[in-house]
Amino acid sequence: MSAAVDGCVQPTGPGLPGTESRALVVQKFGGSSLATPDHVRRVACRIAQDRAAGRRLVIVVSAMGDATDELLESLRVLNPRAPAREVDMLLATGEQVSIALLASALWALGCPAVSLTGWQAGVRTDRVHRKAQIAAMQPSRVLRELEAGRVVIVAGFQGLSPDGEITTLGRGGSDTTAVALAAALGADECEIYSDVDGVYTADPRVVRSARRISIISYDEMMEMAHLGAQVLQIRAVECALVNDVTIIARSTFTAGPGTRITEVGAVEDHSLARAVAHDRHVARLALCGVPDRPGVAHRLFAALAHQHINVDMIIQSQSRNGKNDIAFTVGSDELPHAEETARGVGRELGAEAVLAEDGYGKVSLIGAGMASNPGVAAGMFAALADAGVNIEMISTSEIKISCLLRREVVDTAVRAVHDAFNLGRESPLPGSTRAGGAVSAQGRG
Ligand code: ASP
Ligand code: MG
Repeated sequence: MSAAVDGCVQPTGPGLPGTESRALVVQKFGGSSLATPDHVRRVACRIAQDRAAGRRLVIVVSAMGDATDELLESLRVLNPRAPAREVDMLLATGEQVSIALLASALWALGCPAVSLTGWQAGVRTDRVHRKAQIAAMQPSRVLRELEAGRVVIVAGFQGLSPDGEITTLGRGGSDTTAVALAAALGADECEIYSDVDGVYTADPRVVRSARRISIISYDEMMEMAHLGAQVLQIRAVECALVNDVTIIARSTFTAGPGTRITEVGAVEDHSLARAVAHDRHVARLALCGVPDRPGVAHRLFAALAHQHINVDMIIQSQSRNGKNDIAFTVGSDELPHAEETARGVGRELGAEAVLAEDGYGKVSLIGAGMASNPGVAAGMFAALADAGVNIEMISTSEIKISCLLRREVVDTAVRAVHDAFNLGRESPLPGSTRAGGAVSAQGRG
C-alpha cells in the first residue's frame, strides 16, 4: 500500500473538558440513504435519536440518490472533456444540497445542527482535480460546533486545494472524508451507512445465498472495495488502516450489527475463501507488436500514471520476432483518456496496433492466504468452465484470484464461484476450512 494515500491524520483530540465522556461518532450516509426528502427525514430521525442517546455526532453525507451521475450526464451533453476544475465545481454541488437539507430536517425535529462544506470542515487536499488526496485535516470549526452542542453535517467528497480551488476525492469519496474526519477527531467509531447491512460474501443482488460477514480485515476489504464491492471506497479503507480507525458498515434502514472492518488480528475466521467480488465496468486495452526491449513497459505505464489513470491487470505476451503485445485493463470511465494515452505511446514506439475495448467485467475470489493454495485457483477455473464462462485474463495475489470476463457473463460467473466454494454457508469454527468442492480436497494451504 502506498504510504502517501491520504497520509496519517493527526488526531486533534477528544474536544474540550466536560464532553469527553460522551462518545464521539462519525456517521456517513450514502446517496441511496438520502434519495428523496422522505429518506432525508428518516436519516434525520435516526440522527436525532442517537443524539438524544448522548452521542456527539459528526455526519458526512453524499449527494442525494444518483445526483452525481445526473450532474455528470448534463456535463457530458455540453462538453465531455470539460476542464477538471469545472467538473469538480459542478460535482461539489451535489453534496452541498444534501448537507443543507439534512441540517434543515434536523432543525425541524428540534435538533440543533449546522452544515459545513468540505473546506469549512477543514478538508485540505492536493491539487489533483477529480481524484484529490487529503493532505491535511483542520477540523477546528467542527470541534467548535460540537462544543456548541450541534450535530455537525459535513459535505463528503470535497475539499480545498492549496490554490483555493474546490477539489473532489474520486467517486465514492465521501467514505474517505468520513474516515479522515474520524481519525482527525479521534472519534470512537466511524459508521458508514448505506442500503446494505454490511459486507457480503457476494453482491446479494446477484447471489441469493450471499451471507453477511461480521468481521473482515482491512486487507481483504481493500481487495473487495477495489474490486467493486461498492460498499466502501478503497481509499477510505486505506485511510482507516493507516490511522487505525475501525469502520462499521451498516444499513440505514435496519438495525443490524453490520460488518466491522478492522485489523487482521481481530479476524478469527481463517477461511481460505471469504468472498466473491465483481466489477462490471472494465475496459481492456492492448499495444500489439511493440519492440521487446527494456523500457517499453515503463514508457507506457509511466505515461498512464502521469495521467492519473489506474491500471489494474497487466499481461505481456511471449516475445515473437523481437515483438511483444502488452494488454492491460482500466475502469470503463477511464477508457477515453487511457486510449488517447496508449495511442500516443503506441505511435512513439511504432506499435503495430492499439486496441481499446469496453464491455468487460472482473470476478475475483478473495480470502487471506488462499493464493498460496493452488487448489483454490483450480477450483475457481473449474467453476467457471462448468458454467461455460470464458476467461480473458487472470491475475493473482496473496489474497485474491481475479478473472477478466465479458460483461454479460459476470453474474453467471459470480454465482458459479460463490456456489463452488460454498460461501453462503455459515462460518465454521475458527481454524477449519470453509471452502468446499475443489478446495476441500486440497486441505488447508
Ligand atoms: N457523490 C459522490 C459519488 O457519487 C461521492 C460519494 O457518493 O461518496 O461518487
Ligand atoms: Mg454516491
